[in-house]
Amino acid sequence: MTDQTRPLRVAIVGAGPAGIYAADALMKSDTDVSIDLFERMPAPFGLIRYGVAPDHPRIKGIITALHKVLDKPQVRLLGNIDYGTDITLDDLRRFYDAVIFSTGANADRALNIPGIDLDGSYGAADFVSWYDGHPDVPRTWPLEAEKVAVLGVGNVALDVARVLAKTGDELLPTEIPANVYEGLKANKALEVHVFGRRGPAQAKFTPLELRELDHSPNIEVIVAPEDIDYDEGSEAARRGSKQVDMVANTLQDWAIRDVGNRPHKLFLHFFESPTEILGENGKVVGLRTERTELDGTGNVRGTGTYNDWDVQAVYRAVGYLSQNIAQLPFDDQAGTIPNEAGRVLASPGHSADSTPGQSPSSTTPVPATYVTGWIKRGPVGLIGHTKGDANETVANLLEDAPGFTGATDPELDAVTTFLEDKKVPFTTWDGWYRLDAHERSLGEPEGRERVKVVEREEMVAASKE
Ligand SMILES: Cc1cc2nc3c(=O)[nH]c(=O)nc-3n(C[C@H](O)[C@H](O)[C@H](O)COP(=O)(O)OP(=O)(O)OC[C@H]3O[C@@H](n4cnc5c(N)ncnc54)[C@H](O)[C@@H]3O)c2cc1C
Repeated sequence: MTDQTRPLRVAIVGAGPAGIYAADALMKSDTDVSIDLFERMPAPFGLIRYGVAPDHPRIKGIITALHKVLDKPQVRLLGNIDYGTDITLDDLRRFYDAVIFSTGANADRALNIPGIDLDGSYGAADFVSWYDGHPDVPRTWPLEAEKVAVLGVGNVALDVARVLAKTGDELLPTEIPANVYEGLKANKALEVHVFGRRGPAQAKFTPLELRELDHSPNIEVIVAPEDIDYDEGSEAARRGSKQVDMVANTLQDWAIRDVGNRPHKLFLHFFESPTEILGENGKVVGLRTERTELDGTGNVRGTGTYNDWDVQAVYRAVGYLSQNIAQLPFDDQAGTIPNEAGRVLASPGHSADSTPGQSPSSTTPVPATYVTGWIKRGPVGLIGHTKGDANETVANLLEDAPGFTGATDPELDAVTTFLEDKKVPFTTWDGWYRLDAHERSLGEPEGRERVKVVEREEMVAASKE
């Protein structure tokens, strides 16, 4: 039972939107709380900083709202700390009454088609990390291909296609670091082909992001009239969702208009299922797709007709995937930590759930351990959706709180002393203010809002100045 005379100590691992919203929900409750937010990167904000495209400043601006949460005295940010390496679950149990994991997703879901490992075949997440200045990826990106394929019809595919089709100078006013600008300036892509296995009514784009493609003076968006097709299932989907209908209408409008002469062509292809990436001498030289057709239910079947596309690079944007988290059960298929409304559930054979004399079952909650955000429900949904998620998880945590065994070492400086003793160069919320000011000062001479610092050491140094 937790000591009621002190605040409830909660560790949140992962300072993306989900973790920050969880901190907010805890602080808005009636319970007196004291929260430490652990983050692997030297800066907080997760995919808002390292996923959202640089030409989406309005979305990046959500950071301003999240500032208000991290400004509160009940919460500390402990950045540049990798859970699993710098700190373990056993350590956290010593310092905290409860732990929430909000570690999100940062890798590409696999696509098992022949040729996927060829030189010139890339995962969208890697490219996104590069253009968003993630410190742990290489500084250069090969942008030699004149014709590029992007596989997938969700918003990440749109981001990747848009960034590939825009000019470096169009992206210069954003926060992209110098190495990314140089890379994009040298980009040779003249044609970007986006491929969807199904039709316009099955695309996962959101209407705003789709329409935005057409706003660039350099991008000619092209949809073939024969790719506009609906069956009973598609019509039902359009009737059932305003969003689906808006996307379909936009694509339809684009299919019947005259093609203009903006220099970069961005084709949105539907009913083309990628079956193989074609290679020569280990390099991508094409993409093979099978033409599909609707089967009446909104699903598609192959027609047996294959098309080869002349492309020299292929980006798969078929979804993000979360990573296995040390000392916790993991559902490899779903890419999530098994949970019930945020309460982590033990998986058979996993040590975290083993009670002596009892065999673990997948419905047994792991005591005082919770999840929220993409690691809880999978890598789908917008930033705003992580808020409801966090509220649910926190409500359950607070309901369970009277039964917590309680931290053995709950003092605020116990964990920081532990980290200092281990010589972990952790960053803080004050440090973020310093890094933020530094990045803004880098942008100022060029009239840009900020220029991102990429190198981890430089981020840490700027945080400590
Ligand atoms: C390319 C892309 C573009 C997107 N664009 C938009 C958009 O325009 N608008 C929108 O609303 N949504 C967008 N999204 C969705 C949005 O980013 C997610 O909904 C949201 O970020 C999920 O939040 P999260 O906190 O669960 O995960 P994340 O944002 O991934 O945050 C998880 C955090 O945990 C940290 N972490 C991971 N492992 C560890 C560890 N072992 N130790 C310590 N810390 C760890 C990570 O570094 C990260 O900071 C986009 C997503 C992607 C991938």
